[in-house]
Amino acid sequence: MIIVFKNGTPEPEIQSLDQEMRDWGLTPEKIVGQHNVVIGLVGETAALDPDRIRDLSPWIESVLRVGKPYKRVSREFRHGASSRVAVSTPKGPVFFGESDPIVLVAGPCSVENEAMIVETAQRVAAAGASFLRGGAYKPRTSPYAFQGHGESALGLLAAARDASGLGIITEVMDTADLEKVAEVADVVQIGARNMQNFPLLKAAGAQSKPVLLKRGLSATIEEWLMAAEYILAAGNSQVILCERGIRTFDRQHLRNTLDLAAVAVLRSLTHLPIMVDPSHGTGWAEYVPALAKAAIAVGTDSLMIEVHPNPAKALSDGPQSLTPDQFAVLTQELATIGNAVGRWPQSAAIAA
Ligand code: PEP
Ligand code: MN
Repeated sequence: MIIVFKNGTPEPEIQSLDQEMRDWGLTPEKIVGQHNVVIGLVGETAALDPDRIRDLSPWIESVLRVGKPYKRVSREFRHGASSRVAVSTPKGPVFFGESDPIVLVAGPCSVENEAMIVETAQRVAAAGASFLRGGAYKPRTSPYAFQGHGESALGLLAAARDASGLGIITEVMDTADLEKVAEVADVVQIGARNMQNFPLLKAAGAQSKPVLLKRGLSATIEEWLMAAEYILAAGNSQVILCERGIRTFDRQHLRNTLDLAAVAVLRSLTHLPIMVDPSHGTGWAEYVPALAKAAIAVGTDSLMIEVHPNPAKALSDGPQSLTPDQFAVLTQELATIGNAVGRWPQSAAIAA
């Protein structure tokens, strides 16, 4: 349920409503929008009569029920306003949001050694990326495949951060590793295979680093949003949703089916920022540019692209990785679409 206050409502009025709701055993969450202040209510609201709340103050414009099973992540909960995730990086804050320039995230699937991660970081930074994404802990289908270098790779990511000025995104697979991953990561990634690892979602919600939540391999949009709800319910509202393709029936040509329609659906259902990963979404480097452009056109706030200095020798996901040169060419091409939708760094700079 949400309480929408009239424009210009005095703060003490909002405060006293907030207290009253707590006294009723509810958990109010104040959201300051562009035009109104909204209080979102979670808890046992089913039996509550909206009129009873409306009568509490003449400053209340309306009291509305959130009809969805997910509450905090729903667009309704913020009365239609989008949210923005601000991430601090060595070069200053980077914003993920519907009104912000497209954020480029790039890097290898796995951190293999210091030379390759530093080189990749410097080259994707030069091409316009704001974040380096590389895995220290890798969720692999086969127990015999390279599992990532683990903790030692976290140190290499820190070195790449220093060498490039990029923010770091890296995956956590196990609650036990969360603290040390969050020490190095500017954004903590929860991968597709852990989208419904509820203890991990709760733990990610109880720490303060922003969380990148990838869509599960066969997850519905509702299951995905419910997973995000776990993180917000545990106290962390800094969540970015990443569409990375869903199980496909056409494995002959594609690793997954990149569900670009999900971007439009998410935009209507949730206020959270959106990322698209065309690398895992297709599985093949040659298709990445076309889908990256389409993702910008359909409204993504961010792109994640796998880049490796020598894809043929990559320890994981080589076939879907671009070389740094290919990534630099791609960013030039993306600028055309990014400028057309008014969301490219260059157009932001011109507007400013
Ligand atoms: C990855 O980002 O390298 C990864 C393992 O992705 P996903 O969880 O989407 O499969
Ligand atoms: Mn990968």
